[in-house]
Amino acid sequence: MSITAITIKDNEKYLRQISANVDLNDPNLLNDINVLAEYCQENDVMAMAAVQLGIPKRLVYIKNTNLDIINKIQKNEDVENYANYNEARVLINPVIYERWGLTDYWEACASCLDFVGHVKRPYKIVVEYFDLGGKKHRDTFEGFESTVLSHEMDHLEGILHMDIADEVLEMPPEERKILRQSHPYNIVSKTGKYEELLKNSH
Ligand SMILES: [Zn+2]
Repeated sequence: MSITAITIKDNEKYLRQISANVDLNDPNLLNDINVLAEYCQENDVMAMAAVQLGIPKRLVYIKNTNLDIINKIQKNEDVENYANYNEARVLINPVIYERWGLTDYWEACASCLDFVGHVKRPYKIVVEYFDLGGKKHRDTFEGFESTVLSHEMDHLEGILHMDIADEVLEMPPEERKILRQSHPYNIVSKTGKYEELLKNSH
């Protein structure tokens, strides 16, 4: 049976919950990650938070945050090489400690139907998380990775991209591709405190 994502139409209240911290000894953890992996393998997504698949735990699966490859897939170039591109990274209990710079992008979400939102995100984030082996990491995620990961981490707080977008449009995926070609991922600043840059951008 294929897995489907919970949408704002099915159960918005479910998506609004705050996901629970993962116990690294949770006997269901491997199964939860397999559900995420299977969904991401079968669907055209960049990443996914577990709550979107009915698992309200602080788990994020990153499939593809490489903008060059995403653009190739969207233009149907090199399909045989990249159609199933999958970084397959799992972040357990991720926490953002620093946010730098400012970017904007027309984001979409498997849980938000055809609603795309113009969202301002940090260019760079410093994140602590655990891997499946229970090892703690402190990594810097830069550029488009920062946008994708920030979007997923908002899901863990019950926040959707539409909530923080400065503009929301409803359009089918084909139109979204065209919009992203004319309005691609945009770096406003690579440095400076995100919160201050965001405040001054209004
Ligand atoms: Zn989403």
